[in-house]
Amino acid sequence: MSNWREILSHIKHWSRESNGEYRLDRESAITLYRDADLHALRSAAHQRRLQMHPSKETTYLIDRNINYTNICTINCQFCSFYRPPGHEETYTQTFEEISQRILELEAQGGTRILMQGGVNPELDLQWYSDLLSALKEKHPTILLDCFSPIEIDGIAEVCGLSTLEVLEQLKEAGLDGLPGGGAEMLVDSVRKDISPKKHAAGEWMRVMQEAQSLGLTTSATNVFGFGEKFEDRIDHLLFVRESQEHSLSQWGNGFTSFIAWPVQLENNSYGRRNKGRNKYELGAGPSEYLRHIAISRLLLDNVEHIQASWPTMGMGVAQMALLGGADDAGSTMMEENVVSASGTDKLEASEHELQWTIQRAGFIPRRRDSKYSLLPTPEPTESLQELACPPPARVSEYATKEVK
Ligand code: SF4
Repeated sequence: MSNWREILSHIKHWSRESNGEYRLDRESAITLYRDADLHALRSAAHQRRLQMHPSKETTYLIDRNINYTNICTINCQFCSFYRPPGHEETYTQTFEEISQRILELEAQGGTRILMQGGVNPELDLQWYSDLLSALKEKHPTILLDCFSPIEIDGIAEVCGLSTLEVLEQLKEAGLDGLPGGGAEMLVDSVRKDISPKKHAAGEWMRVMQEAQSLGLTTSATNVFGFGEKFEDRIDHLLFVRESQEHSLSQWGNGFTSFIAWPVQLENNSYGRRNKGRNKYELGAGPSEYLRHIAISRLLLDNVEHIQASWPTMGMGVAQMALLGGADDAGSTMMEENVVSASGTDKLEASEHELQWTIQRAGFIPRRRDSKYSLLPTPEPTESLQELACPPPARVSEYATKEVK
């Protein structure tokens, strides 16, 4: 099929049972990305979201990011967070400092930490195992989603074990899942340009599949806007879809969700290298981001959840994403140091903000944990009915109409 209207008209009949017949292929996905009218595309993605998640509830997570060390040897060009070993601004948090942060999370009713940092050659497997054991003992109700694939790779290198053996030991010590960090673009030609010392796309995916084989929770991410082509963006999504197919059939455990955001270009060598091009040719503005979210929802038919990214796009655009493919408003984070070092200034969201963003998009806010299990949810502190001009209560139903 070559025409975007024909493609959207065909896939509007999608259902879980008929997925094989209506699955988007590479060529059609590229056509949609390049040519489709944004409103029609978002409407189709919203329809798909409602087919997959017909409930009026939209989820969010109370969690905390912890960036336990900024020492890193990988030198990604887009990263403003890391410091090389020996640099005067390096830090590694103590177990007590990390535990203190979790106490603050517990006080807010949080259920998980997302802990990731640099590839620190000064820390061995014992340090990581001891950390997880200590945290599990002190904070038994908190899920520990820690260490992205490149960190697992780094630990394996330091201790001379395979990544699978490292994951097995970390799971034994209390690890519940891996953050999706470090995927960026899962296309090697792009990776070689932006982070030549980082492992290849296949290595990132291999570590994730190993984690999935052990029953750990994982999510897939995608940073885009490095100057890559439409084809590269689609290939990233297809790689995630293929891997998901494999993992679900092998272990019944794949990525819980997909989260995408545009690269941030301040304070890093990638931004400096491209001075003058940044504003117009790199990164992505709201309309391109919303297009990317919509395509993701349509293409990733075997990944249950698409998350909106408020830290990079702001609450307003994240809210629009909830009406164009995304079904989850993300998390409170409480603290973020990696992406924010490259130019975002919103580092945390309150539960109230997330609930309000969801409500004003016409949905009912619902707490979840990192496995997307629904949790008891406090009533939103303000009622939409009290507003002089409340948003349409059934806005989400409009898009169930057929895509024209
Ligand atoms: S993005 Fe991660 S791996 Fe790359 S330099 Fe920064 S901390 Fe290191």
